[in-house]
Amino acid sequence: MGRRFEGRVVIATHNEGKLREMRELLEPHGVECVSAGELLLPAPEETGDTFIANALIKARAAAEAAGLPAFADDSGLCVAALNNLPGITSARWAGEAGSFAAAMAMIETRLLERGCVSPDTRRAHFVSALALAWPDGHTETFEDRVDGVLVHPPRGAAGFGYDPMFQPDGHERTFGEMSPDEKHGLPADGSRALSHRARAFQALAKACLGAE
Ligand code: IMP
Repeated sequence: MGRRFEGRVVIATHNEGKLREMRELLEPHGVECVSAGELLLPAPEETGDTFIANALIKARAAAEAAGLPAFADDSGLCVAALNNLPGITSARWAGEAGSFAAAMAMIETRLLERGCVSPDTRRAHFVSALALAWPDGHTETFEDRVDGVLVHPPRGAAGFGYDPMFQPDGHERTFGEMSPDEKHGLPADGSRALSHRARAFQALAKACLGAE
């Protein structure tokens, strides 16, 4: 059992989409969310070399600055044939390529350069790391993943980021072709969710929000 995450908390993100998603996940558990942006907290530099390290940097910085418990996440796409890149640099790759469409095209080029055509050579996984930090220095972390295969051309306009290229194992459609509920939804019967983020959140909810 982790420490109970309750009361008024900071969501350590400046990204509106993430904020909305995190609020939707946390508020049913009676947690009151304020964002790092609303509190005018500066965004720390993400200097860690793992997803967990970067999530902790963001959660600790927000907890210290706000004097409230804080929640942060870090995530990315790891491509097996590319030594698990882009990994923690997933957002940066898209920034440098100019768009996610360009980043997906770049991944495809690198896969083809390595002769990765058959599905077994095109394995990838998304990782989500979640970190909670309290002003007294206590922290809790959770990480989970979803495995799948990279398809080309990308399919679907739902979701964001690398979703149109990622087809999770056991499914015929990519994340880009799934509704948010199908991708992130938390099954009512408590069975395992699909997305990396929802899976990590299930572990957090069980340990720190008192969920079954
Ligand atoms: P972060 O804001 O540092 O966590 O950046 C995560 C980046 O990883 C995003 O900008 C996307 O490029 C990628 N990513 C993470 N989760 C997902 C997902 O669920 N679908 C698509 N792309 C994702």
